[in-house]
Amino acid sequence: MNTSDTKTLREYDRAHVWHPFTQMKEWEESDPVVIVRGEGTWIVDSEGNRYLDGVAAIWTNVHGHCKREINEAIKAQVDTLEHSTLLGLANDKAVLLARRLVEIAPPGLCKVFYSDNGSTAVEISVKMAFQYWQHQGKPEKTKFISFKNAYHGDTIGAVSVGGIDLYHAVFRPLLFPTIQAPAPYCYRCEFGERDRANCGMRCLKELERLMEIHAHEVAGLVIEPLVQGAGGMIVQPDGFVRRVRELCDRYDILMIADEVAVGFGRTGAMFACEREGITPDIMALSKGITAGYLPLAATMTTQKIYDAFIGEYREMKTFFHGHTFTGNPIACAAALASLDLFENERLLDSLTNKIGYLAERLQALNEVRHVGEVRQCGMIAGIELVKDAETREPFPWEERVGIQVCLEARNRGIFLRPLGNIIVVFPPLSISLDELAFLMDGIEASIRAITELRT
Ligand SMILES: *Cc1c(COP(=O)(O)O)cnc(C)c1O
Repeated sequence: MNTSDTKTLREYDRAHVWHPFTQMKEWEESDPVVIVRGEGTWIVDSEGNRYLDGVAAIWTNVHGHCKREINEAIKAQVDTLEHSTLLGLANDKAVLLARRLVEIAPPGLCKVFYSDNGSTAVEISVKMAFQYWQHQGKPEKTKFISFKNAYHGDTIGAVSVGGIDLYHAVFRPLLFPTIQAPAPYCYRCEFGERDRANCGMRCLKELERLMEIHAHEVAGLVIEPLVQGAGGMIVQPDGFVRRVRELCDRYDILMIADEVAVGFGRTGAMFACEREGITPDIMALSKGITAGYLPLAATMTTQKIYDAFIGEYREMKTFFHGHTFTGNPIACAAALASLDLFENERLLDSLTNKIGYLAERLQALNEVRHVGEVRQCGMIAGIELVKDAETREPFPWEERVGIQVCLEARNRGIFLRPLGNIIVVFPPLSISLDELAFLMDGIEASIRAITELRT
């Protein structure tokens, strides 16, 4: 039996692989696409079909698939040291990467705690903030402020600070309660504001009210700065994150910025917080850190927070947390090679044209009948499809118009993964202008093909 033929691969997949966020009944009835190769912006399936990777290997890929420089760095590291541990030892790549991260992070973030995925980076942030106050003689500060519609990962702590009921409701009994603040979602503003700035102001006002009541018992606030990702690529008004920083300062609350999705150039700056000119107390990084190659995460923090954990061993101030593959040298080597490419290829500078072009193409989509709102922040876009653009009435969720548009795009050689009826544009940052044109042509044609059928 040829175990690499498509039929066999599909059969084994359906027999044994339980896919994430997937209703497996439907999956088993489908013919899954089996990806076997990557080339730059493209992924190739077992039958040789090529797809432009419109979601950058689920928001991770930066320089394209199988980028020579990263491949070589990984190969060299494999032949040198594959893994040891940060429990009781250092390793050269983890040390050098920590140094590089501190150099590029918002000023003041000078300590790096490694883990291996976005959820753990957030989990660590939450535990760090919690324990900080225990050591500061304010043990009553144990709660967290989270935002409606937030997504911070799928482990129990990360789900606790999340706010997407569809994913999180079933686990409610397992979660710790949080104080939930409204997040700006100007298109569907819960205060009924139609103006972006007003929607943001109303949210901030409510946030401040919650802080006034609860600050004495709050350890930290968790936010996805600039863009709520899995919530629907919802872009915050300018200045929102800066105001949140000010409020956290005023009410003595640690600000945790979850840059797992927006970090590493995605918004046009290396980090989203940079665009708002702020430094969070704790910053969680993962997805783009190894340019989409290997699982790695970092939780960065300040000297002030770090110092609160310093003491004699018997004082029990140690941060008792750690993962087996913490600081894995192969993953760190990939991350270092990626940061070299950011510099050598002047990647951030090269984004200006692409971001401008993307803006033009998104603008044009406003003319399409069932496009409700288009949102963009740097190289991220969300295209919200609605039944009626006048009234903003959504498509019934059971119709799954978003999925259908993405399946249509697949026929045109584009892989997309929607968030409900929001089409996500999140290609590798290295995408060329021609490829970006192909992507946006395909998206526009697919939206028209699916939605204009049903009028
Ligand atoms: C993806 C994501 C996470 C979770 O990361 P995993 O690596 O999937 O655990 C956390 N926060 C944000 C903002 C994300 O987009």
